[in-house]
Amino acid sequence: AYRRELVGSLIHDVPDFPKPGVVFKDITPLLASPHGFQAAVTELVTTAPRQIDIVVGMEARGFIFAAPVALALGAGFVPVRKPGKLPGETISESFELEYGFETLTMHRNAIPADARVLVVDDVLATGGTVGATAALLQQMGAELVHVSVVMELGFLGGRARLAEQGIDNFSAIL
Ligand code: IMP
Repeated sequence: AYRRELVGSLIHDVPDFPKPGVVFKDITPLLASPHGFQAAVTELVTTAPRQIDIVVGMEARGFIFAAPVALALGAGFVPVRKPGKLPGETISESFELEYGFETLTMHRNAIPADARVLVVDDVLATGGTVGATAALLQQMGAELVHVSVVMELGFLGGRARLAEQGIDNFSAIL
């Protein structure tokens, strides 16, 4: 409980960013705090299922949490990136944003067929990012064991969207 309170106190609300009416959750104070950053990673690690082989993190803020979680779990790290960034053969998934579409990509051969995969991101908002990442894993036949995020914005209904997609193994620190 203490760790979660510390993490929560270090994520700051920024009104009207990136546009009027949106309250942005700023994780940079959390990252800048040695105890806070450590507490967030420890919470993600202690809530992870056993025997994770690969931790998948999404560009860009997901990388920051997924990489230390992978090291702590003794797992590998695999990035999900925006189009045009990965040098090898990729697969992609697109999802709808408020205005237009977003596409995410992953190396086609990044994950061994029998790997147990944990997906880690900073914030779950509408669930589009995690949903597309799950679809990428499904495309390559990988087993998505669990999704962990630091903060869930409950009022945006991301968890329900993931459940509709068949993803109910989800947890948030906050
Ligand atoms: P979603 O796809 O709508 O669930 O949005 C989640 C993605 O957008 C995550 O990868 C976050 O990094 C980013 N995101 C959305 N809202 C926030 C926020 O308030 N603070 C930080 N990141 C956010």
